[in-house]
Amino acid sequence: MSSQSLVPRDGFDTHVHVFDPKLGPYAADRAYTPEDAPLENFIAFNDLVSENYSSNTFVLVQPSPYKCDCSVMIQCLQRLRAQNIRAFGIAVLDLDSVSDAKLKEMHDLGIRGLRLNFQADGKEVSTDRLRAALTRAADRIRDLPDWMIQLFIPGWAWDSLYETILQLPVRIIADHLGGMRGHSLLPSDLQSIPTSQPGFVSLMSLARQSRVVIKMSGLYRMSSDTCSTYSDLKPIVETLAQEAPKQVIWGSDWPHTGDGHNRLEGRLDVKEPFRVIKNDAILNHLHDWMGSDAYKKMMVDNPKRIYHQ
Ligand SMILES: [Zn+2]
Repeated sequence: MSSQSLVPRDGFDTHVHVFDPKLGPYAADRAYTPEDAPLENFIAFNDLVSENYSSNTFVLVQPSPYKCDCSVMIQCLQRLRAQNIRAFGIAVLDLDSVSDAKLKEMHDLGIRGLRLNFQADGKEVSTDRLRAALTRAADRIRDLPDWMIQLFIPGWAWDSLYETILQLPVRIIADHLGGMRGHSLLPSDLQSIPTSQPGFVSLMSLARQSRVVIKMSGLYRMSSDTCSTYSDLKPIVETLAQEAPKQVIWGSDWPHTGDGHNRLEGRLDVKEPFRVIKNDAILNHLHDWMGSDAYKKMMVDNPKRIYHQ
């Protein structure tokens, strides 16, 4: 497909971050300092891959350097809406201090969910902590229309969270292929059948039961096979698209933050560069692997239904 038709008219990019120190400062206790990535740069990027960017809908996701201060993201939502561009946000909030009235106010500003980020600090994930955080967050947002919980967790964790997620009163958005890896990042015993990796069956089952929406995003986080533009993820993407065609949505993950492997050094005075990503090639892969019909569902129909746009 040509660049301009990769995101069809009325398409959704459901995973975008804005980093703009001019609009507001990063948190003092952040894990890293990113390069600048202002909203206008995102619009320029989206315009390059879209049939008509002004018909698109964007979902801004609160990035970790701002911690629980969503004011930059909210300013950006307001700027987009002032230009008649549809936009929503996924927030990170301190649930100890945020009131129900504040949550309602955030809904009116376009926020539609909470992100629980257990990976940005590079530490191990505790499933007990995750289960508790999930249950608590779900309880706070259960009465807010269309709100979801967005999770970026390692693939294996879906097994331990399966029962909890079935009981939750809200749906989950699984970031970055639900954490499923291509064979380039799998141990040798799992490389021949990537769909047999821990967590995959649970994730598929949760998707088929409409408990989880899976984001086709961040392929470069789930594969190290840059030469083939992450073609080792083909069996994962194919299976997700075939088994849960109504539960997949697309996100560019622009501006493609780094993998954070140096973040534990805590050098906040050095701006961490973004990855250089071949978005055209990734989108063409997704189109080829999924087929036109499932691809269009992912780009337009599914997110439209999920965000009630
Ligand atoms: Zn991201």
